[in-house]
Amino acid sequence: MAPELPTRVDVAIVGSGFTGLSAALHLARGGMQVAVLERDALGIGASSRNAGYVGRTLKHSFGKLLRKRGLDFAVAVYRDMQAAFDSVAETVSREAIDCHFRICGRFIMAVSPGQYERIAAELELRRRHLGQDFEMVPRARQHEEIGSDAYHGGAVVPDLGSIHPGLYHQGLLDRAQAAGAEMHPQTAVTGIAANGSGFAVTTARGTVQARQVLVATNGYTGAATPWLQRRVVPFDAFMVATEALPAATLDRVLPHGRTYLDDNHNIDFMRRSPDGSRILFGGCTGNGETDPLVMAGVLQARLDRLLPDLAGVSLSRAWTGRCAGTFDLWPHLGSHQGITYAMGYCFAGVPMGTYLGMKAARRILGAGDAATVFADRPFPTVPLYAGNPWFVPWVMRAWDWQDRRAA
Ligand SMILES: Cc1cc2nc3c(=O)[nH]c(=O)nc-3n(C[C@H](O)[C@H](O)[C@H](O)COP(=O)(O)OP(=O)(O)OC[C@H]3O[C@@H](n4cnc5c(N)ncnc54)[C@H](O)[C@@H]3O)c2cc1C
Repeated sequence: MAPELPTRVDVAIVGSGFTGLSAALHLARGGMQVAVLERDALGIGASSRNAGYVGRTLKHSFGKLLRKRGLDFAVAVYRDMQAAFDSVAETVSREAIDCHFRICGRFIMAVSPGQYERIAAELELRRRHLGQDFEMVPRARQHEEIGSDAYHGGAVVPDLGSIHPGLYHQGLLDRAQAAGAEMHPQTAVTGIAANGSGFAVTTARGTVQARQVLVATNGYTGAATPWLQRRVVPFDAFMVATEALPAATLDRVLPHGRTYLDDNHNIDFMRRSPDGSRILFGGCTGNGETDPLVMAGVLQARLDRLLPDLAGVSLSRAWTGRCAGTFDLWPHLGSHQGITYAMGYCFAGVPMGTYLGMKAARRILGAGDAATVFADRPFPTVPLYAGNPWFVPWVMRAWDWQDRRAA
């Protein structure tokens, strides 16, 4: 049962995913009285439903930033992506969170020879300017990395990682609570109004007076924060898990237990489950369907085509969760009318939620290390958009078409 709602806190945090909990942990350790207000069960959002890839993924490539904004900016952005990655590794280690975090490396599959060349060019730039290592694996050798003929080779990036997202979330939750942050599940925030001494945060269970508010609702951002709702574009992502598989099959299909994804706009992604017994697969994101059972059939057919060794294997689970894109495809940390927000991770919220949650906390604490390139950028919307993402399936189709054309 949810504890009684406090009448006053230093900081009210809306949302109990990685962003909210990372912020809660740092704020509570910084001496603030913190209440995390969650509409449903704690962690019910994307943070407990994702694939657990820990990467340095941004929708703007290093090469594009270099061309358009110059070397210094591109390096600053990608150094901050590295800092976001490091923030997960540091959190897991410092807080001793047992969540299967490991540096497994990532295999990025090319869906065409042209894509193979583009991946190589992008990673070569990152090696030259950032010192990030990689190895190209041509099609002739790709079975060393993946049991598939559907690709045209790919690249191994050895220093990227994976976690069990549910255990990571639980660890953050335990540590934030131990630090003194109060958790209030089943407490939907319905409005936030500025008043003399901060904000009156209205919830389904009463009103909390907070000196400061952090909104950490990402893909679930709703009418309680209309300015933010007009700026994030929610979309549904889907995943399935196979039944438990023999070790020999797993070793043939995904031999090194890395994380795997292609380089399309709308990616297919696969990995072994954290316990190593199954394959988790996701894709067909944002296609307008909402039922994970319908999507299970679509994903199974796709998986059979990509990994023919799995034909005839049953699925044991299918699920969905909600992500947030933004109109400029950047994540955002900032303040609007005194309310702090961190969201819009465009599918990279394991590192970005951890990192920007921490940065949001440092900012609220007035600490000297709150800066990040993702803070205080203009946060665009488009005319007439009020939060209904009806156009997402069309954008995804256009992206699929672009990817097919490029292939
Ligand atoms: C299927 C899937 C696979 C993914 N795979 C990866 C991956 O491998 N790697 C990666 O980096 N990212 C991945 N992501 C994205 C990542 O999971 C998210 O970006 C990240 O979890 C966002 O964390 P968050 O804390 O900001 O938001 P969430 O975890 O979504 O939490 C937001 C919370 O806010 C609550 N909320 C909303 N409105 C209110 C309100 N009015 N009052 C109270 N509470 C409210 C919601 O109930 C929810 O619990 C994936 C996402 C999905 C769905």
